[in-house]
Amino acid sequence: MIEKTREYPKEIMILEAIVRRFPPDDFKKAEFEKKLYRKRAGYKGERTLDYFLEQIDHSEMLILHDLRIPVNSTHFQIDTLILTPYFLLIIDSKNYAGTLIFLPEFNQLIRVQNDIEEVFPDPILQTKIQASQLKAFLKKHHITSPPTENLVAISNAQSIIKNPTNDKEVSYRVFRSSNVAFKIPPFYQKHTQFLLSKNDMKKIARLLIKAHESLVPDPKSMNLPFDKLITGVQCPACETFGIVYHQGKWTCKSCGQKSKDAHFQALKDYFLIYGPSITSKQFREFMKVGSPSTAKRLLASMSLTFDGTTKGRIYFPGKSFFD
Ligand SMILES: [Zn+2]
Repeated sequence: MIEKTREYPKEIMILEAIVRRFPPDDFKKAEFEKKLYRKRAGYKGERTLDYFLEQIDHSEMLILHDLRIPVNSTHFQIDTLILTPYFLLIIDSKNYAGTLIFLPEFNQLIRVQNDIEEVFPDPILQTKIQASQLKAFLKKHHITSPPTENLVAISNAQSIIKNPTNDKEVSYRVFRSSNVAFKIPPFYQKHTQFLLSKNDMKKIARLLIKAHESLVPDPKSMNLPFDKLITGVQCPACETFGIVYHQGKWTCKSCGQKSKDAHFQALKDYFLIYGPSITSKQFREFMKVGSPSTAKRLLASMSLTFDGTTKGRIYFPGKSFFD
């Protein structure tokens, strides 16, 4: 049973909005594009593992995707946690392209791509640390943790996995996502003691879901050229900014495309970059809408909540605004 689903990360949404509205001639744009590309690849890798995990019989397990649990002044993150009556299993997914060379002796993962060598943190070590943090978290809540297991899923089907020192731990714990159905059963043979009832598993899941804090980075700390970010509503067809609202619809002067709801995406971008509130005046400036009554109508067309009277009204994204 999937107890916690994976959501499209807010961090990626924020980066998408920033990249969309970054001044194209600013050299720093490439840095944000690179980060967005990396985060999207990671998310894609997680989704690939989810897909293969959904194919196996998981009726006796509880699966929790994407946990971020506060511990002391930081957080520990788990891509996928599987609770079974006998053991807990942590799976970290990596979507690295290229040739991946595992060198556990020095806790290194070397990636070679287009003749460039890069060092990544040892993902097996990462999952071990996650396991010990999870145990400490459970202990703090007076729960004795069952044995934990950890795996590293390589989701990029094109990457080449190498284990030059024939390390047993690497061949045991690193696998291709498509192979997950064959990776889990051996753990049932290794851990045979029934330790968690269905209720115990539910209780742990609830505890973790309650403690979970999703990552919402603050664009204010990202050194953005706020005064140069592109404003206006974007054409959904040719991506030109500054399309014009007239007679109940947006019209693009570049390509002629018409849209009734192009302001939705623009308002999403605004909330993601500037924070989750907007006044009617800010809305008019950002959307380049002159008329207060048009702005009012457009604001009313979206699932927003608001505070205050008509004049000083502040609008906030409603519960399902980003869905
Ligand atoms: Zn257009």
